[in-house]
Amino acid sequence: MHTAEQRIAAAITAIRAAGGRATGARGAVLRVLAAATHLSAADVHARLAATGARIDLSTVHRVLATLAGLEVVHVVPIGGALTYGLADRPHHHTVCRRCGTVRQLPPSAVAAAIAAATADGTFTTDTAGRDGGVVVYGTCTTCPAGPAR
Ligand SMILES: [Zn+2]
Ligand SMILES: [Zn+2]
Repeated sequence: MHTAEQRIAAAITAIRAAGGRATGARGAVLRVLAAATHLSAADVHARLAATGARIDLSTVHRVLATLAGLEVVHVVPIGGALTYGLADRPHHHTVCRRCGTVRQLPPSAVAAAIAAATADGTFTTDTAGRDGGVVVYGTCTTCPAGPAR
């Protein structure tokens, strides 16, 4: 299990390895993402503002797009909004429709679905790596609102 600081350091190493610069804004966004699971750009902006960081929303969008391009974060559409998560560990996702909690699923959990999608050789997938991932919707059994009726 890596600490948040180790994950941020690894992400900055990856940015530099790709020829990018580890700007203050990029580091701040990585810190927010390391402390959460998946966040929209607006959520990232709100959390930055709560720490007193003066980084405007358009900069957050730009930083997230850059980090996604470098495959340091992956982009997952959840509930109609794009969310961003650190992509250092390949994973898929479950999402609670009530509280929005995102949990991570190991790649093996959807291996059979990907095998079926590619079985006839007419299609290949790229969901097993850093880009995107499968999203499984449901409801937490521990959600304060209770299970879906
Ligand atoms: Zn993810
Ligand atoms: Zn829930």
